[in-house]
Amino acid sequence: MAVTGPVRPADLGVVLPHEHVFIDLVREYRGSGLLNDEQLACRELALLRAANGRTLVDLTTDEIGRDPAALRRVSEATGVTIVMGCGHYRDPYLDRDWFDRHTVDAIADEIVRDAQEGVRGTGVRAGIIGEIGADKRYVSAAEERSFRAAARAHHRTGLTISTHAARWPVGLEQVRLLTEEGVDPHRVIVGHTDSVPIPEYHLALVRQGCYVSFDSIGSGSAHDLRRAVEYVLNLVRAGFGSRLLLSHDICLSTHLSAAGGCGYAYLLSDFLPLLVEAGLDTEQVGEFVTGNPRAALTGEPW
Ligand SMILES: [Zn+2]
Repeated sequence: MAVTGPVRPADLGVVLPHEHVFIDLVREYRGSGLLNDEQLACRELALLRAANGRTLVDLTTDEIGRDPAALRRVSEATGVTIVMGCGHYRDPYLDRDWFDRHTVDAIADEIVRDAQEGVRGTGVRAGIIGEIGADKRYVSAAEERSFRAAARAHHRTGLTISTHAARWPVGLEQVRLLTEEGVDPHRVIVGHTDSVPIPEYHLALVRQGCYVSFDSIGSGSAHDLRRAVEYVLNLVRAGFGSRLLLSHDICLSTHLSAAGGCGYAYLLSDFLPLLVEAGLDTEQVGEFVTGNPRAALTGEPW
């Protein structure tokens, strides 16, 4: 389900599975944590379209400024298919008081409503659950309830769950919680895996059947890039190339092309060629941005 309506899996094309078009992270990033300019967003997404990018997954939740109507306008203006997220981000963005006053099933009800009826009367429906966040190396009490609600909403909607697990190997606990709620790991994308510099962690996740998302491609140093190439090679050598997702996680104004950042096209124009240079074949590299995200979004077997 895209913000403009249903989309056939075969029409997804080249997909960026973890991005943000509009976002408000000003709570943590006062200088650069706001993306709210529609015209600028259209110009940035035009660069993605020109680089053959067809679909973008926007994992912005309500806590961080989700704007369904604006996403639909930008999608219509640029021709980029946008799949919108739902559910809840991480502490400290969560409304802890609201979480205390709602049962897990009531939290799930809202996610289901976003997916089935659309968000707040806009008719714009979510097509993925996420990004569901844990802020630290553990899952906090409110976050645990958010994860359980995501799992229950997944059972009722069939939507894939995409998570935020940055810096610490907290994805393992996230997957444990979700599987305890009966979710098949194959329907889970663990986000920001490349921000955890432990290759054994990446392997532990894919061995359980989930997707790992290397989604800070282009916003770091040259060293980060070389390391990301190594992480990809590690997974491929272990036989898990089909479990890999790649994206930029554009979330700060400094990430935009207009500000000299990587922009939404960097992965396609610069990073995929690095993988070919490192010895992977072009066809397999192409699957990383087509077949893999299509399977991750739709739950098709691999
Ligand atoms: Zn994100």
